[in-house]
Amino acid sequence: MKTIGPMIGIVGGGVVGLCCAIALLGRGYDVSVFERDTGYNAASWGNAGHIAVEQVEPLASPAALRSVPKRLFSAGGALGLPPSMASRWLPFAARLVAASTPDKFAVGTAALTPLLAGSMPAWRDLVGALGAPDLLREDGHIVVWDSAASARTGRQRWSQTPIGTARIADAEPELLHRLGFLADPVGGAIRFTGSGQIADLRALATTLEGTVEARGGRIVREAARLAEDSGRVVIAGHDVDQVLITAGVRSRGLLEPLGYRVPMIAERGYHIRAQADGWPADLPPVVFEDRSMIVTRYADCVQAASFVELGDPDGPPDPRKWDRLEHHVRSLGLPIEGPFTRWMGARPTLPDYLPAIGRSTRHANLAYAFGHQHLGLTLAPVTATLVVAMLAGEPPAVPLAPFDLERFGRKGPHA
Ligand SMILES: Cc1cc2nc3c(=O)[nH]c(=O)nc-3n(C[C@H](O)[C@H](O)[C@H](O)COP(=O)(O)OP(=O)(O)OC[C@H]3O[C@@H](n4cnc5c(N)ncnc54)[C@H](O)[C@@H]3O)c2cc1C
Repeated sequence: MKTIGPMIGIVGGGVVGLCCAIALLGRGYDVSVFERDTGYNAASWGNAGHIAVEQVEPLASPAALRSVPKRLFSAGGALGLPPSMASRWLPFAARLVAASTPDKFAVGTAALTPLLAGSMPAWRDLVGALGAPDLLREDGHIVVWDSAASARTGRQRWSQTPIGTARIADAEPELLHRLGFLADPVGGAIRFTGSGQIADLRALATTLEGTVEARGGRIVREAARLAEDSGRVVIAGHDVDQVLITAGVRSRGLLEPLGYRVPMIAERGYHIRAQADGWPADLPPVVFEDRSMIVTRYADCVQAASFVELGDPDGPPDPRKWDRLEHHVRSLGLPIEGPFTRWMGARPTLPDYLPAIGRSTRHANLAYAFGHQHLGLTLAPVTATLVVAMLAGEPPAVPLAPFDLERFGRKGPHA
């Protein structure tokens, strides 16, 4: 007879929650995933699909702070600080500045490096176990610059930047040939190897959900509400032993009423998608670095994504962002024909650009895995292995101390 392990309620069925669900089912847990959205609108299903093993440096850095003026949307850049949302981003900006000292940046890089080193092996294991190896493409990505001058600066910067397990390959003539469809010759291009992409985000979503159900888990299509009961956290109306919060940007709203300090911001990004007819099927993601835009081919669509807009996850989108993406597509002469669908979604970002992965010391049955900022797709399977080890009391493959939520202190009556 199959032994049924502890009942765990996972709040949030994005990529992090679903990867955790599959890993926990593999350890005999009785798993229910609570997911309130039926439309696949979360960041998990609208992102750029890039397995970004190279991004070992947190964006909370002295260099990122120095570059703010030229990254502003008003200066043609990708950073949006909407005045109407200043009450959200001002406190976050203050914490970001405090987290961006050289020392803290070094600590953050040391924490992210082993996590990212484990990310591609964890994806490989996962798609193998799902019987869906084609979901993962391990053919790197391409970085392109508009002008020779920016290519020189960009190459030099990348050559001096730690890139974890990725490598930069010198394949310029071959690359330039593959990008021959562009209106103007590019200023330069480099190819990364060791990185990759998810071949199709919708197929990923349905494969992960289907696997959860096929292995005996449940996807509960409702908004979970949390409450406290005798020092434990409960999901209203449901009987679970343990609760795992994987609610992305919504994790803050779930945990703050329970006394946790979660200084998370919605880092809103935008994409446009169109039929993929003209875009080469075998081209890995292309980053147009001067335009802060990444173009990714999925199964039957091609997507251009950009922007980091700090604010309210539920505030109205800014259509100028989609207009600018369409402008880039046209002015670069990309073989992408409208009509375009338009999407906005929120990266869950903490001020030090490290995720929160850990167990509560206050509520014995509460664990969490959220705040994966620009790297949630990349880090979901490796996060799941860490969550499983943590709940089983086994030593995690990567030290979890830097990801403890209590690094932000406590709030409210529990402080
Ligand atoms: C434009 C853009 C491009 C990106 N590109 C990349 C990339 O190339 N590579 C990469 O690694 N990352 C990328 N990211 C970041 C990545 O998408 C996120 O880090 C990741 O999706 C976070 O996953 P998650 O599962 O934690 O959260 P989410 O995707 O936000 O999922 C959380 C889920 O929880 C559900 N939920 C919330 N509250 C409740 C509740 N109370 N009850 C039930 N359900 C609830 C939500 O409906 C949602 O489905 C990008 C993000 C954006 C916006």
